[in-house]
Amino acid sequence: MRVALWGTRGSLGSPGAETARYGGNTSCVEARGSEGTVLVLDAGTGIRRLGVALPSSLRRVDVLLTHLHMDHIQGLGFFAPLYNPEVEVHIWGPASTTLHLRNRLMRYLSPPLFPVRLRELPCRLVLHEVPCGDFAVGEFCVTSALVGHPGPTVGYRITTPHATLVYIPDHEPALGVRQFPLAPEWTSGYALAAGADLLIHDAQYSGEEYPDYVGWGHSSLTHALAFAALAEVKQFVPFHHDPAHTDEDLDRLITEALAEVRPGFPVTPGVEGAVFHLG
Ligand SMILES: [Zn+2]
Ligand SMILES: [Zn+2]
Repeated sequence: MRVALWGTRGSLGSPGAETARYGGNTSCVEARGSEGTVLVLDAGTGIRRLGVALPSSLRRVDVLLTHLHMDHIQGLGFFAPLYNPEVEVHIWGPASTTLHLRNRLMRYLSPPLFPVRLRELPCRLVLHEVPCGDFAVGEFCVTSALVGHPGPTVGYRITTPHATLVYIPDHEPALGVRQFPLAPEWTSGYALAAGADLLIHDAQYSGEEYPDYVGWGHSSLTHALAFAALAEVKQFVPFHHDPAHTDEDLDRLITEALAEVRPGFPVTPGVEGAVFHLG
């Protein structure tokens, strides 16, 4: 499995000289299998560049949305396969308690927020609501499960016979917990992440900032590292960087957190353009 990071920023696109190295595009990760299956994890602004880089021979692509906060769908209308009548685009994402996934997506993909309506897209569009148990997409087995974040939000576990990728970009497992982490069975997201070869996870705040944002749905770097250790992952990528953190800030915050926690697994900061080969 080849995993590429196309957008690593959280909350708001943050282009600029001071964020150029970690990247300013919002959440988007590509997972490509050895047989050519392409999964797109979230449709943040990073999805535009991914869309134009996909092979022109591709006839099916699956976009897996964790939730519908703007930073995870803002790039959707700029995803080239949506405008190709020869491509089947499957979009997976959560409904709410009152609206189907289609109605939730239509809120963005319709005027006045966007000039093109969902029903006008030329591709062959298929929508699926998650979580819906395990499902197969080409050579991948995908598991989705609800995780702690405001509004219905899932994380994804993607497996092949040789590798497991886990993607939980927005997640606050420490919410309401006096001493984090708790036992695994009481920890949000644990079953998804357990034993992953690669975990890509929310690390929005520094430990110092977190107390001001309790309940906003995100993790501090130290909480994210503790979650990764609890889940016994093989490699960890901190992701969904705060828009206010410059490249220099992130270098410093990640170095400090690693010195404090001393994790027993490799940690690779989430940098736009990074590629990982699993299995
Ligand atoms: Zn987000
Ligand atoms: Zn969110």
